[in-house]
Amino acid sequence: MTTHDLPVEAEASAEPTTTMTFTDLGLGAAVLKALNDVGYETPSAIQAATIPTLLAGRDVVGLAQTGTGKTAAFALPILDRLDVSQKSPQALVLAPTRELALQVCEAFEKYAAHLRGVHILPVYGGQGYGVQLSALRRGVHIVVGTPGRIMDHLDKGTLDLSELKYLVLDEADEMLKMGFAEDVETILADTPDDKQVALFSATMPAAIRRISQQYLHDPEEITVKTKTTTSANITQRYLIVSYQQKIDALTRILEVENFEGMIVFVRTKNVTEELAEKLRARGYSAAAINGDIAQVQRERTVNQLKSGKLDILVATDVAARGLDVDRISHVVNFDIPTDPEPYVHRIGRTGRAGRTGDAISFVTPRERGLLARIEKATKQPITQMQLPSVDDVNVTRLARFDDRITAALEQRERIEGFRDIIAHYMRHHDVPEVDVAAALAVVSQGESPLLLEPEPERPHRADRDRGERPQRAERTERGDRSERGERRDRGDRPERRPRPSDTRMATYRIAVGKRHKVEPRQIVGALANEGGLSRGDFGAIQIRPEFSLVELPADLPPETLERLDGTRISGRLIELRPDRGGPARRSDEDGSDRPYRKPRHKG
Ligand code: AMP
Repeated sequence: MTTHDLPVEAEASAEPTTTMTFTDLGLGAAVLKALNDVGYETPSAIQAATIPTLLAGRDVVGLAQTGTGKTAAFALPILDRLDVSQKSPQALVLAPTRELALQVCEAFEKYAAHLRGVHILPVYGGQGYGVQLSALRRGVHIVVGTPGRIMDHLDKGTLDLSELKYLVLDEADEMLKMGFAEDVETILADTPDDKQVALFSATMPAAIRRISQQYLHDPEEITVKTKTTTSANITQRYLIVSYQQKIDALTRILEVENFEGMIVFVRTKNVTEELAEKLRARGYSAAAINGDIAQVQRERTVNQLKSGKLDILVATDVAARGLDVDRISHVVNFDIPTDPEPYVHRIGRTGRAGRTGDAISFVTPRERGLLARIEKATKQPITQMQLPSVDDVNVTRLARFDDRITAALEQRERIEGFRDIIAHYMRHHDVPEVDVAAALAVVSQGESPLLLEPEPERPHRADRDRGERPQRAERTERGDRSERGERRDRGDRPERRPRPSDTRMATYRIAVGKRHKVEPRQIVGALANEGGLSRGDFGAIQIRPEFSLVELPADLPPETLERLDGTRISGRLIELRPDRGGPARRSDEDGSDRPYRKPRHKG
């Protein structure tokens, strides 16, 4: 048995000593070209271990789950050695489900893009025999199918496996669980003795061990064991999203997370460019780095990130290796890596120089197994987070809007200059001051809306908890508050309390102020998250040099106060206390004295 121990990342030097490439694995030019097209830069651990063994002609038993890159691990050596002139099937891949069979076919097609005249056929139950029969008659090189339907063809004599050279059992444990044991064994027994067999399985139950002993010739057993350490000053979270929701999820995270510099990791070179472009179109300063970008350009980009000219780098593993920039407060795994080891390298890009860091990983429902492997290998919990809601985004937008007003008011000279102009306007138009200010806000905002529109209510579905729903439906109208509270009960956040319009407000003092560089949006964000408060619960916020004053409902329950007392902002305990002598007040009926007014919707 061969166990491939991968290097632990040393805290001092993140630069691994060697980087294996696909060329090092012994693959030919046509396949390498296809890999370059799809944008893979380096082999995953299972690929690095399996490809040379298969190319050398040895049988393989690989312990590997979905998401580790096992499909390419067997597909590439097969394609590399394919004899296109042979008309009867040369390679057979057995997969437990039709979905996986189709996926494997697609992968083969992709990797075969620069090989001429290769025919790959999916064969699964539920599809008419007609298509399969005519394709088989024309001649196919690779058949990918479910065991039951393959057996049907063998029984009918419509599939000739007499010249089979390569047989792959993909997700062998799943095939056995689905009752295909007998079919699999028959296929193994009734195909040429000198074929090469590769068996992949996420687990190794006794039945699979027996099959491999009985039908495989001296297989090399490949387990990729990873030793990994992650640093404790990095908060690790994950978000279940579908592939299509990733961009929207990233945009919302960018809005609500208080980040300084960020690296967004993707799997392929092509996606780095695409994603950076999309982020720039949304107004972020983002750039791509990948293995194809010249060293000089890469250095220039990294320096821009260091100096703050650039906030977001979209990178592949190779390009970001060893990157050491203190400003990186967040790492986002837009695509979760195929192995724990690159995960550790990636998140180690934040939390540098004794700072804290945040790592957020996007996980599609199918990739949950990969997440579990990473958690197990790193021995660190990764907590689930929810997609920031429309309400969360709007709270942040309003707080930022306030920050801009506050910052503008500090420019005393310029304010003085405009004061007369506004006074002149007011003398000649009978309009309240607040409306003039609102009109100027319209001017400054331009056409783009300040707030996100509430999302339409969608029916609850059981699969929401499996992450197949894009986001919680959010409504900001008063009437929906109780429903929102009910929904939150099922999530992991505290329930948000509605604030009736006659709530008595009290002023609280928190132990963070200007000196600690806090901004109102951080205060709103932290208190809302920890205390389950909603935007409507916040009154005025004053940031003083050493502390801040926040208006909140006077009747906050003791549990909320306790939770808030222990809340931290920028690492400092806020020590929330009622501010003795601070003005308690009654907010008026329409809430017009609140800084955060709910959006008004016509119609
Ligand atoms: P699999 O485990 O075969 O289902 O592969 C999981 C995902 O990883 C697929 O989306 C592949 O396209 C991708 N992938 C496989 N190998 C690599 C690689 N060396 N670099 C980047 N992505 C890869």
